[in-house]
Amino acid sequence: MEEKFKPNSEASLPLNYKPLDVELAILDFWKRNSIPRKLRELRERENIGDLGWVEGPQTHNGVLHVGHARGRVIKDMRYRFKTMQGYNVPFWAGWDTQGLPVELEAEKELGVKNKRELLEKVGEERFVEECKKIVKKYYEHWRRADERLGLFIDNERSYWTYRDSYIEREWKYLKHAWDQGLLGEAYYIVAYCPSCQTSLSNAEVGLGYKEVEDPSIYFKLKIEGSENEYFLVWTTMPFTIVTNMMLAVHPDVKYARVKVGSEVWVMASGRVEPLMKELGIEEYAKLNEMLGRELEGIKYIYPFKDLVPKQIEFESNPKVHTVVAEDFVDAETASGVVHLSPGSGEEDFVAANKRKVPIFAPYDSEVNFTEEAGAFKGLFARDADQKVIEELDKRGLLVKSGTIRHEYPTCWRSHHKLVWLARKEYYIWTNRINDRIIEAAENVEYYFEGPRNRFLSFLKEGKPWCISRNRVWGTPLPIWICEECGYKTLVSSKKELLERAIEKPEGYFELHKPWIDRFILKCEKCGGRMKRVPFVLDCWFDSGAAPYARFSDEEFRRFVPVDFLVEAIDQTRGWANSLLLEHVILTGKSESPYKAFLFCGFTLDDKGRKMSKSLGNVIEVNPLLQRYSADLTRFYLLWKTSPIDSMNFDVNELMKRPYQVISTLYHLHRFLLQNAEYDGYNPTEHNLEWAINSGLLKKPDEWLLSKINRAIDEYTELLDRCEYNTALSLLEDLIINVLSRNYIPMIRRELWSDDPKYLNRRLTIYSVLWDVLYKLLALLNPVTPFVSEFLYQNVFRRMNPRLEESINFTVWPKSRPELINEKLERDFENLNLCVSLTYSARQKAGLKRRWPLRKAYIVASEETLNSISALKDTFLELANVKEVSFVKSEEEIDPEVLRVCSESEEEGVKVLLVTERDSSLLGEGLMRDLARRVQALRKDLGYIPTDILDYVYIAGLNSEDIARIKPYHKEFLNLVRARSLQVLERRIDTGAEWHTSELDGKAIFTCLK
Ligand SMILES: [Zn+2]
Ligand SMILES: [Zn+2]
Repeated sequence: MEEKFKPNSEASLPLNYKPLDVELAILDFWKRNSIPRKLRELRERENIGDLGWVEGPQTHNGVLHVGHARGRVIKDMRYRFKTMQGYNVPFWAGWDTQGLPVELEAEKELGVKNKRELLEKVGEERFVEECKKIVKKYYEHWRRADERLGLFIDNERSYWTYRDSYIEREWKYLKHAWDQGLLGEAYYIVAYCPSCQTSLSNAEVGLGYKEVEDPSIYFKLKIEGSENEYFLVWTTMPFTIVTNMMLAVHPDVKYARVKVGSEVWVMASGRVEPLMKELGIEEYAKLNEMLGRELEGIKYIYPFKDLVPKQIEFESNPKVHTVVAEDFVDAETASGVVHLSPGSGEEDFVAANKRKVPIFAPYDSEVNFTEEAGAFKGLFARDADQKVIEELDKRGLLVKSGTIRHEYPTCWRSHHKLVWLARKEYYIWTNRINDRIIEAAENVEYYFEGPRNRFLSFLKEGKPWCISRNRVWGTPLPIWICEECGYKTLVSSKKELLERAIEKPEGYFELHKPWIDRFILKCEKCGGRMKRVPFVLDCWFDSGAAPYARFSDEEFRRFVPVDFLVEAIDQTRGWANSLLLEHVILTGKSESPYKAFLFCGFTLDDKGRKMSKSLGNVIEVNPLLQRYSADLTRFYLLWKTSPIDSMNFDVNELMKRPYQVISTLYHLHRFLLQNAEYDGYNPTEHNLEWAINSGLLKKPDEWLLSKINRAIDEYTELLDRCEYNTALSLLEDLIINVLSRNYIPMIRRELWSDDPKYLNRRLTIYSVLWDVLYKLLALLNPVTPFVSEFLYQNVFRRMNPRLEESINFTVWPKSRPELINEKLERDFENLNLCVSLTYSARQKAGLKRRWPLRKAYIVASEETLNSISALKDTFLELANVKEVSFVKSEEEIDPEVLRVCSESEEEGVKVLLVTERDSSLLGEGLMRDLARRVQALRKDLGYIPTDILDYVYIAGLNSEDIARIKPYHKEFLNLVRARSLQVLERRIDTGAEWHTSELDGKAIFTCLK
């Protein structure tokens, strides 16, 4: 007897969905049973084919934040999705480990300020050790975050770009470039950070645009041989006048000679008026006009010949200090005349090369002017701006000096303004194979037009790739030069290196500085000593080599071109680019190493601001997932916006709709489990096939099955098209609307009975719910793997222990077209409309949904009426009315009845409800109200639906109400699962606690025993 009082929720799922409890339990389950490893082994053994994949390696220079998480979640989701479909995917980790950020952190750890100090104080061996230590530190952090996020990525087979084995295979790319004449040393313009003292790749330049203030000056340069005629020139980088070699105008634009005071100035004709206004000159007159091309060849007087004697030497070349006409000149701004400094601008550089004008770049590695810059020697280039302005002013050549605020690229690392300068570096001449690169890129699937266009237009710039870096912690550039004859050779393996070496490091060595520099080779031309060039590689070259470097030859053939990649949109300039260039070089074909690339949008903070350390709004994954759910984070990241859009990440939203959806899913499973176990349901015996073959399905079941089967195909297709947000709204609708709001109310009362006569009906409902929820869980598994595994284990495997050990081993659901019924779905749409109209008609009349009403009229077209009348029973059940009439016009209804109707109308369908209630309806409504209170109380006290109460006492009713509900005692006991009921005016001593609640403003007391 005592036993009955004990609530017994332990036998079932916990009462509420608590994501963190679920996730910790499942992490433990996965670990204890080695689920990720078993999944890999399963798919290596049994698969329907390989789908290549390669990890876009994250640089180990920071911690994982939600922006990273977005991409990582997509990778893991796709892995689970494709694995469940039966594919074998090499979901193996990879880490980008070399490069500047790691070096800078190591310098900080070791307390050195620059490379010189580094070499003197600690030496390169110690430095390399420190770099590795930093890499390991971040690795631990990332591995933890990945695990907590639920990633099944394989760390045992991860690649590390600093390992010799990786470096050797990376060198193969260089070998192919070398053999094709695509790798060489040359002067070219590079973006350079004076602070980090290294050049930056195009990828890096894109990362750091900032608004900065620069000088903005107008100055004039005198035309040689003229009395007082000048070109008017504008620049924001006065220091480049030190290295000025030419002036440029646009060939097809009209230029004017303008009289200003006693002088004549030459400038773009269309700019005369606005410019004079800007310069505050009121009196001026246009003299004559000519095309820009007619100005080509005019010589001007370089203003600083006295300060920079080297400039006089250059004048032996007749093109130096003359005007050239070039299409790149923008004649719409300033004066339309620009000055060219081929040592510090790419277009200037190209214009000079075309005319064989020398490149003048007198800078040291810190971008200070050297000896050749004469009076400017020792000045940091940008600090020379002021001196240049003063010198122009002294010579009467300065027209106006001001400042300008504009977007200018800065170093993404040190935030220092970048400078462009000509440097002798090693380049890969990707510009020569640009056609092949573009062709390869055009054959890739990008899913969305925007990112595709952005990527292709970047590629079309087709610039050569400067791959050499003057640093330590990187893959060495394996080129050796003969000290005697200058002959160069490229080595592409450790074996070759050892064979060709005449001197080598003693004992331990690795393919890094400083060991690599101790290899001296013998020149095959003259027998002289060959030393390695001092450079390491751009670390974008490291990651771009991943498809070949991370696999064996056999794996490379199997997995590359890989099937699918996803990275953030800024990788158009970064990894997507370097992968493509290197692959075209390696294979010599116009082939991309990836068949599809999804460029993902940025993740911003809740207010739409970029996440940054300085704003303090970076959301790191590890701390986030200590408080919030990984499943909800994953769901939210995929569900909120299209993957290509930027997303505002608001942690407060996690516990709103995403929680509601997953929690509803949880309760649907709990509902199935509790009811099915009560009836001793055996899912292998009474499965969906049994229900179908026995003809036991009712309309609501058929409707639900139609909905889920249609959704399977749509959802699968949407995932394949990377429309994750749309895919998830489809499941959201299934869970919230189709299942929870519609199907469950349609069948709930059928489950209340425990009459053996209706057992088959209950078993049918279980078989339908089993099938639908099982499939839904499988569809959601790639998105919310924790709760999916949890419910799979605690509902499905609990009732059928012979199921696969993990949900990840199950197969992706297939739709059953024979269960899709379009007409039935339309009928239910009509039905749902009518039901919701009854709700609003009730609301207008102040009638609660659980109060039964006598009659409803539905007024609609014949077609709609036919459609709904087929579902009459379901309508009566959901609308909670005793009777329904279908009429084509209101005129068919007795006007007396119409008077007491409440109505609601939408989409040409009208519902009228008879609002009058007799004593019997009132009694039934009251009974339902009371039953509702007892059901809520049962739940609060922790009873599960299968617990049967011995007694229910209700007190606080008047004698009239007590009499009214008398006929409904039996139904009441059924509803609340109890054996006997006593309804009283006042509370009596029952030996158990009374609970107070309120009903229409009156206190009601309930006691359960
Ligand atoms: Zn920098
Ligand atoms: Zn030689």
